[in-house]
Amino acid sequence: MRYRSPRGTQDILPELQPYWHHIVQSAENIATKYNYKKIDTPMFEDTDLFLRGVGEGTDIVEKEMYTFLDRGGDSLTLRPEGTASICRAYIEHGMHTLPQPVRLYYIAPAFRYERPQRGRFRQHHQFGLEAIGDGSPIIDAEIIELAYQYLYSAGISKMQFMINNIGDKSCRPMFVNALVEFYKKRLDDICEDCRLRFSKNPLRLLDCKRTDYLCQQMIGDSPHTVDYLCTECDEHWNRLLSYLDSLNINYIINPRLVRGLDYYTKTVFEVHPQESGSQTALLGGGRYDGLMEELGSKPVPGIGFGSGIERIVGELRTNKNFVIKELIPDAIMIHIGSPASLEVIKIASSLRNEGMNIVIAPDGRSLRGQMRYAESMKASYVIIIGQNEIDSGLAQVKNMSNGTQKSCPINELSPDSFSNID
Ligand SMILES: [Zn+2]
Ligand SMILES: [Zn+2]
Repeated sequence: MRYRSPRGTQDILPELQPYWHHIVQSAENIATKYNYKKIDTPMFEDTDLFLRGVGEGTDIVEKEMYTFLDRGGDSLTLRPEGTASICRAYIEHGMHTLPQPVRLYYIAPAFRYERPQRGRFRQHHQFGLEAIGDGSPIIDAEIIELAYQYLYSAGISKMQFMINNIGDKSCRPMFVNALVEFYKKRLDDICEDCRLRFSKNPLRLLDCKRTDYLCQQMIGDSPHTVDYLCTECDEHWNRLLSYLDSLNINYIINPRLVRGLDYYTKTVFEVHPQESGSQTALLGGGRYDGLMEELGSKPVPGIGFGSGIERIVGELRTNKNFVIKELIPDAIMIHIGSPASLEVIKIASSLRNEGMNIVIAPDGRSLRGQMRYAESMKASYVIIIGQNEIDSGLAQVKNMSNGTQKSCPINELSPDSFSNID
């Protein structure tokens, strides 16, 4: 084989498309119920947008972006995630003049140069949404409920919903101080990446995944963000929890859930599948009240989430109770001889106009060959028209599941013709 799809990418073949269709439909149904409107942004942006909007010092910016110079010499980057582009569009189109918050959703590919492994792709697709222009915890509850409803309606019934509050720019320095104090005496116990994080961006110490040093134990024993919240953040946190309780959403408070960048504020959340125990989330999101300022706007609060569609497809495929509907023809048209072919083309066209899924059997095969074709296509019915049927004006309609067959006037064939031969 000379050509293959690029490493870390995949073709989404027809047999997987019903999963995609189902997930996209669930996403759009739920988003619409909460009045989120769709937005599409370009597949690439000025590199600088992501340097600021995703953040220098993150793995995405340091190691994972597809950045290139175009023929005009401009540095462009394939979108590695959704939020920065949406915020750029909000500012560019003056959406602050609209009723706030502006509720937006997107379904779009994202590109990251990651080490390919199960469930991780260099081109993956995200369903994401953002509510921009309202800092109230009632919006956090709305987004979290929406995330839950989306996953549930997509077919994920068992999930772990983890939330945390990471404070804001007035209280986070106190937490960071406590973290630094905690790590300071034990720098020999942590990996060299963590020692670098300790001096550059201590919050990211809590992101370490390495198990060859004592990093995990340190993370487990480290101080909790929610113990260092200022009055405003604490009130936001308690109101959010009371909303989630009133919605009967089961959540786990996970103090290790943090974002290592200053413009992330207050609420963060992640959803993991209940059983797999995998570290990869099905969905992740949070509040970013400092991001708009970072992008050169006046301060505007925002919150959102992103969810990888490939991950959800993967979950559904491992779930034996989840049955996806294949695309199967309602009827196959079998035709013997050219007058019959002329007839079936017209009948197929009119049945399709009445909403049926009709396939004409391949030309030039015997009756038996065409019947075999109909079986392999798993069609529910066949309509047989040969010279006898043309002469008598009566087509044969056969129910493939029980073998029942009846005659039906050719010029009266309609969806009803199939209803009384079951
Ligand atoms: Zn470490
Ligand atoms: Zn605070």
